[in-house]
Amino acid sequence: MHEVSAVEYTFFRILRLLRRLPFNPMSVGNHKVIFLEYFKNFDKVNAVKGIFGEKTTEILSHLTVELSWIFGYMYVDGSDGHLVISKNYLNNGNKTDIYLDLIHELCHVKQFMEGKELFDPRYDYVERPTEIEAYRYCVQEARRIGLSEERISCYLKTEWMSEDDLKKLAKSVDLDLI
Ligand SMILES: [Zn+2]
Repeated sequence: MHEVSAVEYTFFRILRLLRRLPFNPMSVGNHKVIFLEYFKNFDKVNAVKGIFGEKTTEILSHLTVELSWIFGYMYVDGSDGHLVISKNYLNNGNKTDIYLDLIHELCHVKQFMEGKELFDPRYDYVERPTEIEAYRYCVQEARRIGLSEERISCYLKTEWMSEDDLKKLAKSVDLDLI
């Protein structure tokens, strides 16, 4: 009999949470939803509780998510701290990547609530303390759910990051790029 480890179990449970998303690709324009109504049970995920603590459920029940036709992935809007997510990415992106991106962006939501400047122009993207904190946390979660170092390296490689920036970032989050 195949025994499912706790890590695998968490991982598949998370993927199942994402698979049930009520996508409606026919809807036109951007629309807003409440995080917890859309990403159901995310307040039960340990990595998310690790960000917001006791207030997790309350915060996620008030967090607005704007589902958008933007190209790309997701980001926190610096004007009011709501989350903007590309519908195309949600529909077609890799579920594990989406999960890790959500963890990353929720770190930024927390930072925004603490009054931190998310787009501080004094820093390059990969050297910005808010980014390093978010990447560190999400790499830690990636390891916890059992992703290999190779898979995590893949996750960090995005088409808009130069090879040099990628190396800097990997160093900051203690990842040996593969
Ligand atoms: Zn970020």
